Amino acid sequence: MPEASFRVYEELNDYLPAARRKRDFPVRFPEPCPVRHLIGNLGIPPTEVEIVLRNGESVGWSEQIRDGDRVSVYPVFESLDVSSLLKLRPEPLRNPRFYADAQLGRLARWLRLLGFDTRYDNCIDDADLVRAARDEQRIILSRDRDLLIRREVTHGCHIRETRPWDQLLRVVRRCDLYGQIRPFSRCMVCNGLSVPVDKASIENLLPENTRETFQAYWRCQLCGKIYWKGGHFERLQARISTLLQTREDAITDDPSQ
Ligand SMILES: [Zn+2]
Repeated sequence: MPEASFRVYEELNDYLPAARRKRDFPVRFPEPCPVRHLIGNLGIPPTEVEIVLRNGESVGWSEQIRDGDRVSVYPVFESLDVSSLLKLRPEPLRNPRFYADAQLGRLARWLRLLGFDTRYDNCIDDADLVRAARDEQRIILSRDRDLLIRREVTHGCHIRETRPWDQLLRVVRRCDLYGQIRPFSRCMVCNGLSVPVDKASIENLLPENTRETFQAYWRCQLCGKIYWKGGHFERLQARISTLLQTREDAITDDPSQ
């Protein structure tokens, strides 16, 4: 049976059994075998892979691996510009929109808070989620690597972190969302857009002390939820400032600067 030599780099090693990490290892397969299929079989979600080199040259997902090939697999580089080398990544989605899987409800609320269109439905099954994400051009956010290995998935991000804040940092860095953050422009509950609303038109819906203290209000166009800049707003604002600071930290840490 044909055999190729594989090597996997950086955090992609986490997907491999210990005996295959950070070293060359043989993979046998029936020829011809497309790159994407072999990498999925290794347990690595293709969404996490940026570059595959076959005998030193960058190849696309459908290209074949043959007997004797040497294959190197690199993860998505978060801060390096490698666009001239890329053969794998599909066209980036111009306005990043997301579909969070059933385990990522809190991450979905955070992304909405930052203004990103994020669908979340904790009852949807995997096949429907993948189909909806493709039809609506959404990036799938998932804790489940098997879901991201599915052949139909083109844009996705494997969320390995368990804390929602760390999950958010991963998505913001990976998709380079820093420049597109529009805090409080979307409803955290339902993903609708929230727009300024006249106080007079909603006065009867407000708790009395809120009505007396605040003048500016926003209302979700979908579910009608009313927002104002109370104590909760200030705490969230502080978290967003912390998040934006991580961009500057990343730039300062970059050894090429
Ligand atoms: Zn809403």
